[in-house]
Amino acid sequence: MRVCVIGSGYVGLVAGAGFAEIGHTVKCVDIDERKIDALNRGEIPIYEPGLDALFARNRREGRLTFSTEVGEAVASSEVVVIAVGTPEREDGSADLSAVLAVAKSVADSMSGFTVVACKSTVPVGTNEKVREVIASRAKHPFAVVSNPEFLREGEAVEDFMHPPRVVIGTNDARAEHVMRALYAPLYGYYDAQGRIICMDPRSAEMTKYVANAFLATRITFINEMANLCEAVGADITHVRLGAGTDPRIGLHFFFPGCGYGGSCFPKDVQALLRTARNHHHDLTVLAAVDRANDSQKLVPFLKVKERLGGSVAGRTIAVWGLAFKPETDDVREAPAIYIVKALLEEKALVRAHDPIGMANFRRLVTEDATYCDDMYEALDGADALVVCTDWKAYRTADLAKIASRLKGRIVIDGRNIWAEQPRPAGLAYDGIGLGIR
Ligand code: NAD
Repeated sequence: MRVCVIGSGYVGLVAGAGFAEIGHTVKCVDIDERKIDALNRGEIPIYEPGLDALFARNRREGRLTFSTEVGEAVASSEVVVIAVGTPEREDGSADLSAVLAVAKSVADSMSGFTVVACKSTVPVGTNEKVREVIASRAKHPFAVVSNPEFLREGEAVEDFMHPPRVVIGTNDARAEHVMRALYAPLYGYYDAQGRIICMDPRSAEMTKYVANAFLATRITFINEMANLCEAVGADITHVRLGAGTDPRIGLHFFFPGCGYGGSCFPKDVQALLRTARNHHHDLTVLAAVDRANDSQKLVPFLKVKERLGGSVAGRTIAVWGLAFKPETDDVREAPAIYIVKALLEEKALVRAHDPIGMANFRRLVTEDATYCDDMYEALDGADALVVCTDWKAYRTADLAKIASRLKGRIVIDGRNIWAEQPRPAGLAYDGIGLGIR
């Protein structure tokens, strides 16, 4: 099939390369000329493991091309996938301006029956809005399908190629047929195992928010239990195993840390709360999750401050991990932002390291830290180390070397990566919910 993917960010690039990998001819479009120029030179502007191989192979074989020209790309495509950003607005709602702008250009450029599949995360009712915009300008028949994306950054290629499910939201039989054909190379047209789930558009839109809201809730629940473990002298590492091995509970997304971040959970939680308010509905659990996560992000900062006698002013703090999670360069809403900003506001000096996300953090968050290419170099002269992201390189770090390079002896492990490891004597180690050790 001929597919046009509009928006070449974390989702659009992976979806574009993924659709090409399963045999479709894909044109990826973006308004960002620099991004498209880079892609046309063979450079991938984001870090996503495994994407480079798909990108190179499908470009070489002519199934994957890039352009800023939306008109021509849409006119030659049977399916147009919308994958532009839907950032949070000030009132918490999702900003749909890019989605609706794309809808207009699509309407003006279609050359025959076109299926417009929205992969961007959008509030309930957006499918109808997109349909209205296109209907007011289009000269050809079309259908708008809600096709939310569930991939995880850092594992996006694997998730796209082997999705636990594909949600297709449409009431239009012809559009359902096109979407089933689009995904058929993954699981077959009829998908005997039921991983292709068809439903009405509103339910599809809601599904994405329910999934993210639930995962944010699980993380926040185990974080709160960890904080309580600490207060009562229990150890969350044991407790999560004892509770999570119950198959009704499970261990996935049941790991305590310094809060969730990223480009999705925070804004999707806000958007769902906004949707609920618009419908005069109180989401009490989710509102509490949002508040609790805000506090959780500052736990490592408060711990380091307390260990340093109540003030970080004039002290040097090493921060390991700036990306919102490992295996990505995405720093959007990363807990490290809140921790580094709090440290800087209270006049600490910050020496920061991240294997991949450092350039983005420096550009998007602050210049006022010392950025170190080597993780151990960040420890030089530091009174304490705070770990914000559980990169593999940190998990396997040499704790004796950390102890000897740090000037102070304080390690605050915001991801509990060393909780179960023997630690050198004299290291003042603390994690999240580890109780009395
Ligand atoms: P992103 O910011 O990485 O990429 C969005 C891209 O859209 C940018 O390259 C931008 O230049 C482009 N764009 C904006 N307006 C445009 C326009 N009018 N025409 C063409 N291109 C335009 O965003 P992302 O992380 O890829 O997320 C995209 C959507 O997918 C969001 O709605 C997000 O919530 C959702 N989503 C993201 C993830 C994730 O892990 N990042 C997972 C699932 C769903």
